[in-house]
Amino acid sequence: MGVRVRFAPSPTGYLHVGGARTALFNFLFAKNQGGTFVLRIEDTDLERSTKESEMALIDSLKWLGITWDEGPDVDGGYGPYRQSERLNLYREITEQLIKKDRAYEVYVHPEELEELREKLQSEGRLPHYNREMLEKFNTKKRIEEFKNNGKNPVVFFVFNDKEYEINDLIKGKVTFRKGAIGDFVLLRSNGIPTYNFACVIDDHFMHITHVIRGDDHLSNTLRQVALYEALGWEMPNFAHVSMILGPDGKKLSKRHGVSSVEGYRSKGYLPEAMINYLALLGWSHPEGKEILSLEELITSFSLDRVSSNPAIYDENKLKWMNGYYIRNYDIEKLTRISKKFIVNSGLCDEEEFDDKFEWFEEAINSVRNGIDELIELPEKLKVYFENPKFISTELNLSPELIEVYSKLLDNLEKAERWNKNEILNIFRKTLKGHKKISRKDFYMNLRIILTGKTEGPELLDIIYLLGKERVLAKLSDIVK
Ligand code: GLU
Repeated sequence: MGVRVRFAPSPTGYLHVGGARTALFNFLFAKNQGGTFVLRIEDTDLERSTKESEMALIDSLKWLGITWDEGPDVDGGYGPYRQSERLNLYREITEQLIKKDRAYEVYVHPEELEELREKLQSEGRLPHYNREMLEKFNTKKRIEEFKNNGKNPVVFFVFNDKEYEINDLIKGKVTFRKGAIGDFVLLRSNGIPTYNFACVIDDHFMHITHVIRGDDHLSNTLRQVALYEALGWEMPNFAHVSMILGPDGKKLSKRHGVSSVEGYRSKGYLPEAMINYLALLGWSHPEGKEILSLEELITSFSLDRVSSNPAIYDENKLKWMNGYYIRNYDIEKLTRISKKFIVNSGLCDEEEFDDKFEWFEEAINSVRNGIDELIELPEKLKVYFENPKFISTELNLSPELIEVYSKLLDNLEKAERWNKNEILNIFRKTLKGHKKISRKDFYMNLRIILTGKTEGPELLDIIYLLGKERVLAKLSDIVK
């Protein structure tokens, strides 16, 4: 069996930048290795997990183009792929550990465990549980009480306290010193496993070969390594990716104003730009290339080029990169993506947009150089929609210039075809012989007449896109 990796989000909110990067690294590694990428939903936190979040996560991943070979919606023979649907398996493994004396039941209420922890701390001891102190809760009376109320005991793991070590594919040798933790919960009294327990069982039965995840999970890895040992299962390879830091050097979080993948999507980020930027958060191309398509990323990705130092999140770079992709995107595709931004801004309705799709292609093409996010598009397109009154003081019209505009009006009126080539020819024809007219004056005043502004898209685009009727009307106002 080849490489098998997984992305295992907890469906408790939108997909954030850090999660998206983890998913991407797993995906790229799998594709590079000709392996399998599994999506597993870790929904054991009953209070915080929601179906809506699961759907939102899936939606964001699909939008990014991160697709999975196995997951809740694609059976690959190792399902189910939602932890909430695997509870029997966790129970079964718990029984096995109890039989092997590597786990034990404790008839305890959660508050009591908290109290015990506080007591240990107040006595200056480490807040580590052990079997001796926990089994004191298992009085006859307590066991009766649980049985009568239909409650289950909590199951604890017998942690073998010693030094553990892994050879991390990114961090190298990682040593977990003795005495770091005590016995820990495997199964809660509601029959729901803890993350560490479910994760090990699933990674094992899903034949995961490489666990690629954020290094904030390192302390969990110690628990997981101890579980693999107790269960006698072969460990996967671990690759812990360093955290993403905000510009202030602190772990990236909502405080930095960085939004979810969905947030970027709604501001008009292109999936290709997001993917490109995320890939460079901790990984670099062997030749230092910065603009990379998904295909190029797949071919060139390797774990040994993932840095063991934290990556710094630079929103301006992401924005710049998005601008780069906007400028270089297939215009038809870009126009389709832009539709919702334009319709939502009220410039036109959906039907109008569809009817004038080709016109919109041209219009978007004429302004895309000046934007980094598609949400800026409607403002730029206003030049074609509003009928601005120019301020006459901004105009500098000599009698000669008015005469040329009058000639231009005539020539444009006679134009049989309305395309940029034709318009350019008319310009040439009109200006021929008018050596004294400054071209700069001619074009700038014309721009102001047509748009009311001194800057904007190319004049040729403006004339073509405003259309014959509106251009003639504006020119007539001047020359009459
Ligand atoms: N559900 C965990 C998380 O979202 C998965 C961690 C892991 O990849 O093992 O952080």
